[in-house]
Amino acid sequence: MKQTHTEVLIIGAGPTGLMLANMLHTYGINFRIIDKKQGPSRYSKALGIHPRAMEIMELAGLSAPFLKHGFLAKHAQLYSNNKPLFRINFSLLNRDTDYSFLNIISTGNRTYFRKSFATKKGRKR
Ligand SMILES: Cc1cc2nc3c(=O)[nH]c(=O)nc-3n(C[C@H](O)[C@H](O)[C@H](O)COP(=O)(O)OP(=O)(O)OC[C@H]3O[C@@H](n4cnc5c(N)ncnc54)[C@H](O)[C@@H]3O)c2cc1C
Repeated sequence: MKQTHTEVLIIGAGPTGLMLANMLHTYGINFRIIDKKQGPSRYSKALGIHPRAMEIMELAGLSAPFLKHGFLAKHAQLYSNNKPLFRINFSLLNRDTDYSFLNIISTGNRTYFRKSFATKKGRKR
């Protein structure tokens, strides 16, 4: 069996594992990331980036392109069977964060980010 060495082994390439991988890369720490799945999910599980996630991305130096390409939604209105359920006002968060919105990334831009970060930060084995 072939042996490989790494400082950190990340198990799971979901958002948590990928963010950790980005931060380790930033600090020059060698890592390997593995996932039991063959590739990304076909289903969207991250339409909007929440304020706390934007703050973590800022710390990691990643927020600028997501701000540039995202749709910054100040409000969200939820419906069920064409009837309004309730409305969320993200701008009310402005005392607590610089990111008082839900940052919605389109499908096209999500593909762009996935390819762009994969090319810059690592290689698939
Ligand atoms: C329909 C839907 C819509 C959503 N929309 C949003 C949204 O708009 N905004 C938002 O912020 N969040 C949203 N979420 C929530 C968001 O997807 C989760 O919070 C996020 O995926 C959690 O990330 P994670 O990395 O912790 O876990 P996961 O995404 O579950 O990733 C874990 C990874 O680890 C891998 N893994 C697990 N066990 C092993 C193992 N033993 N060996 C190897 N690999 C393993 C799995 O294959 C998986 O790829 C949504 C979720 C759903 C289901």
